[in-house]
Amino acid sequence: MFHKVLIANRGEIALRIQRACRELGIPTVAVHSTADAQAMHVRLADESVCIGPPSARDSYLNVAAILSAAAVTGADAIHPGYGFLSENANFAEMVEAHGLTFIGPSSAHIRMMGDKITAKTAMASLGVPLVPGSDGEVKDLDEARAVADRIKYPVLIKAAAGGGGRGMKVAHSEDDLEEAWRVARTEARTAFGNDAVYIEKYLDRPRHIEMQVMADSFGHVVHFGERDCSLQRRHQKLLEEAGSPALTGAERDALGATVTAGLAKLGYRNAGTLEFLYQDGQFSFIEMNTRLQVEHPVTEMVCGVDLVREQIRIAAGQALGYTQADVTFSGHAIECRVTAEDPETFMPTPGLVSVFHAPGGLGVRVDSALYAGYVVPPFYDSLVAKLIVHAPTRPEAIARMRRALAEFAVVGIKTTIPLHQRIMNDPEFQAGDYTIHWLEQFVERLAED
Ligand code: ADP
Repeated sequence: MFHKVLIANRGEIALRIQRACRELGIPTVAVHSTADAQAMHVRLADESVCIGPPSARDSYLNVAAILSAAAVTGADAIHPGYGFLSENANFAEMVEAHGLTFIGPSSAHIRMMGDKITAKTAMASLGVPLVPGSDGEVKDLDEARAVADRIKYPVLIKAAAGGGGRGMKVAHSEDDLEEAWRVARTEARTAFGNDAVYIEKYLDRPRHIEMQVMADSFGHVVHFGERDCSLQRRHQKLLEEAGSPALTGAERDALGATVTAGLAKLGYRNAGTLEFLYQDGQFSFIEMNTRLQVEHPVTEMVCGVDLVREQIRIAAGQALGYTQADVTFSGHAIECRVTAEDPETFMPTPGLVSVFHAPGGLGVRVDSALYAGYVVPPFYDSLVAKLIVHAPTRPEAIARMRRALAEFAVVGIKTTIPLHQRIMNDPEFQAGDYTIHWLEQFVERLAED
């Protein structure tokens, strides 16, 4: 097992990883920007190192500073969390080149899945179904027209290096194509420094369903079932459930079997998530994330597994020690992402949190780095808390979430708690009757009222 783990992240996920390390008896090193000197992940760490000024580019993305912090503190492994450097293959390679362990997949697999075109090619060769679309990169507008004519409008132009919902544009007809093409390529170039794009059929009413997998270095792969992440705004997830209200156990087992067989063939290691769109009983692969997901807790609640602990054990060379038959699913879990944003305009609301009271009780979990007196800095992602509930059935989970949201007090900054309360009270949500477009329409309806 590792002697000391450096956590190259901040906020709730840095705390989440610290907690897993502490239970495994491993001391941790926190890194932080000057803006985060008072952050909870720094206050609770065994050791901490300041790695740069507020801008993420100069601190949490500063590879040299992070590697130096590991060297100075004698850490022998680095956990990247999610976001920041977690899907940076060069970083994973440099960590290993410095004789440290990267707690995650191999850099080759990160690179393969980081480019969505190579990811789709790899998945197709493993028998995983795809969204109909271009055969790889689309080089120019003429080719884009030809692909769109073949798969029929509406189509979606997507950045090969895309992430966070950026570099994605819909063309509803040939009239929109040129504009969508230009905007998607420009956005891809500015956001990712790579203007390669591909085209997919734009599905009109899919759900976003993803499978959590875990693989060790000995060829054992298991899945921990699906999460439904259809509730999104601007292609960004806001609320997640495990399991999906739309899936039968047989559908989960079938998809899980395809996915685990594919990843075993690939020789994949550590945690990963395969994302699918699900419409008319069909699953279509869209991308794979080679890291821990923000929404991993809902899976932990229904499977009774600590996914971060599993990541650390596997990276340390341990075998899974169980098979698919040992993975069981119990009850239903929901996660609400609470962000420091105005619940109506979605404008960021950094600032001083004067009162913080987290809900509790049976089946309630809060993953957050907030505390009373903390000033939410304006420099980073606006996620400030994840409220997760677990109950025997979905209606009971919704009742529990309503109760927990009502107890949750964050004073001083506006948060999205009121929006989650409105979602919980909505009959369509309660019926589980939603697609990836539902939330945007719901928010529009609220704005009109
Ligand atoms: P990113 O890496 O930017 O998150 P994804 O490929 O994972 O991009 O897609 C993000 C979201 O965009 C999906 O969850 C879904 O809501 C929407 N989306 C992606 N591809 C399609 C498609 N072909 N049709 C309709 N919606 C899509």
